[in-house]
Amino acid sequence: MLLIELLVSPLTVALIEPFVIATAVMTHTRAVLVQAVIEHDGQRYTGFGEAAALPPVTAEDQPDLLVSLARAATLLAGREFAERGLAGTELADMLRALELGPVATSAVECAVLDAGARERGVPLHRLLGSAGELCRLVTDITLPIGEPAHLAELAISYKNAGFTAFKVKVGKRRSDDSAVLQALAHAVPGAHVRLDANEGYSADDALRLLEDARAFGLIVECFEQPCPRTRFDELARVTAEGGVTIVADESCRSLADLEVIAAHRLAHAVNLKLAKLGGLETTLALGRRAKELGLGLMAGAMVETRLGLTAMAHLVTALGGVDWLDLDTAFLLAEDPFVGGYEATGPELRLIDGPGLQVALHPRG
Ligand SMILES: [Mg+2]
Repeated sequence: MLLIELLVSPLTVALIEPFVIATAVMTHTRAVLVQAVIEHDGQRYTGFGEAAALPPVTAEDQPDLLVSLARAATLLAGREFAERGLAGTELADMLRALELGPVATSAVECAVLDAGARERGVPLHRLLGSAGELCRLVTDITLPIGEPAHLAELAISYKNAGFTAFKVKVGKRRSDDSAVLQALAHAVPGAHVRLDANEGYSADDALRLLEDARAFGLIVECFEQPCPRTRFDELARVTAEGGVTIVADESCRSLADLEVIAAHRLAHAVNLKLAKLGGLETTLALGRRAKELGLGLMAGAMVETRLGLTAMAHLVTALGGVDWLDLDTAFLLAEDPFVGGYEATGPELRLIDGPGLQVALHPRG
């Protein structure tokens, strides 16, 4: 298999409304599209990968990605591979040698593997080791930080569209967050919520918000990254005293982090993201290890298009499913630059069967 070229271009898509979390505000995606063109037996196949930045959650931003990926494109053009598989292959070694950041690495790996899967004629999840069994993929929908009345309206419209689980961004100011939860409890009674503070709280604030949520009658499925990633004492305390599943996201950026989280009981579960962990191979390994350690799994993304979400859905399929699926950001975009990948009915995503990711550029271009 010959890698003819990597095409690198900005992937900037407007959001319907600003995505506000404790540490960032986004009005457009800050991503880069990678297309890998490979040739085998005289036929060419193009695969796609999304390098999705969400600074400061990711250290890389769109301008850095354009530079590092252009360098990768120069170094990789014309390279020959014997294999199209994953662990321990030439691709993994070559990606390590490039010393790209995790966001850039994940996009190059995804594009090459998508092209490889298309050439083999198998869905990407088969290349990742799935037996071909599809699992049910039902995502939550995110409510950013904002005004209680507006978020309550949004929640009602999402509920009417079939969504039953809300990922609620909190972590800026506890009293404001509490007002939002109260408004949600009125608007969508009995709603299931997954809180995410993006490192914004002290343990005291996190524990108090959980008390409030229960008092309002909300069903809290889990609470993601309540405290700063390196505040192990605070995280361990919320995990021990919160009475709810705590999910490590920013705290879990590598296999080494995962081992620390398990050993010190910093969380009950971890959030897997391709852009954070550096691609499909590393995310698959981390997900499998987390299962061995008895930790729960969430599958998430940065603010990604249908392309990045489809890649994650294939990874979830290869893992045999996860506990919480958070693959909703394509619903938050004002337009969709891609077609295919999956078909969505309300919150349910069904992968389209066929070679690779089955994602294509939107015909309007
Ligand atoms: Mg998170």
